[in-house]
Amino acid sequence: MKILVINAGSSSCKYQIIEMESKKVLCSGLAERIGQEMGRLTHKILPDAAEEKKIVRDEYFPTHVEAMELVISLLLDPEVGVLKSKDEIAAIGHRVLHGGEAITAPVLVDERVKKIIKENFILGPLHNPANLMGIEVAEKLFPGIPNVAVFDTEFGTSLPPEAYMYALPYSMYKDLRIRRYGFHGTSHKYIARKTAEFLGKKPEDLRSITMHLGNGSSMTCVKDGKCFDTSMGLTPLEGLIMGTRCGSIDPAIVPFIEEKMGYTPAEADAIMNKQSGLLGICGRTDMRDVHAEAGKGDEQAALAIKMLVRSIRKTLGAYVFLLDGIVDALVFTAGIGENDHIVRSEVCKNLESIGIKLNEEENAVRRPEARVISAPDSRIKVLIIPTNEELEIAEATEKLIKK
Ligand code: ADP
Repeated sequence: MKILVINAGSSSCKYQIIEMESKKVLCSGLAERIGQEMGRLTHKILPDAAEEKKIVRDEYFPTHVEAMELVISLLLDPEVGVLKSKDEIAAIGHRVLHGGEAITAPVLVDERVKKIIKENFILGPLHNPANLMGIEVAEKLFPGIPNVAVFDTEFGTSLPPEAYMYALPYSMYKDLRIRRYGFHGTSHKYIARKTAEFLGKKPEDLRSITMHLGNGSSMTCVKDGKCFDTSMGLTPLEGLIMGTRCGSIDPAIVPFIEEKMGYTPAEADAIMNKQSGLLGICGRTDMRDVHAEAGKGDEQAALAIKMLVRSIRKTLGAYVFLLDGIVDALVFTAGIGENDHIVRSEVCKNLESIGIKLNEEENAVRRPEARVISAPDSRIKVLIIPTNEELEIAEATEKLIKK
């Protein structure tokens, strides 16, 4: 069975086709700068194999439809295609950010599901509109093939009330469903399962802390294999400092800037989501650029790194306490977590007294597989486990359509 996984962003679209029996990725790709003057499609055939082939096309994509039409033509191409017909795709799994409290589990898309995704635009202004667009493009270009929505909030459903409630008037929870939902759930769930497998533990016995550090970053505290606390909240803005998002700030700053600068709530929201974080502090969002600038003596870039590390360490300390100090593993994942040895080293620095000791040599090496980077005498193991949200989405999709 072949499953197409789509992760649609506002000006981009990531996709993969996975052969479920072998778990082999037949092709993957990224269409970028959709709607801009010149877009780019990078399409990889057998991306995980030695015989990988890469096709790059620079073209104007007015909308996601034109970008996906080009993808389909490559999928069906007699020379480089991986399909004879679109009907070989059994189902399409979509990453969707937010379904509020109404839907959290994977679900077959129908009009009701689309309406709920739309109702939650306000809670996921960067993601939900794009995710819905991805579904509508798939419905148009792959008629008759079922679409499944897999929500980023699923793993957060096990949060206890003391973790998901905000200390606002209780009626705001009752009437407006203002609560912590948690995001990157697909990644955190996948990592929890892989961590248990890696350590040879039963998933229900696992106590771990996952650091998903990418453009968007979040941390999850896992107790008994379930999400026990998580850093993102009602929206994916709360928690750690991110590429363009401010993370947790004093909430009084929002009315303050609205009053002082004359911003509307939407403008204030856009500043916090799109112009803050690493970008706001030093003008760069990509961690590789931030390091490069810091290396050249840029003080704001150096400050951005220190602030990011500090926000991770503060959350880490809180989660070690929530787990009563009994932790099997700390796990680094996603773009920064998997690749940035400097951030990993700074996060784990001087923590020997609480049982965390990095093997700096192992930490400095780059390898694609899951591995231990702590010293043999580190009481708490430190791991790098590459995340694979696409596989998690494909497996959830397969399970649902087989029912
Ligand atoms: P997304 O949230 O978009 O899925 P990713 O998980 O792909 O993001 O992570 C993107 C981040 O990972 C970027 O900030 C990028 O700079 C960072 N990154 C990727 N490779 C490296 C590297 N070798 N060193 C430091 N940071 C890296």
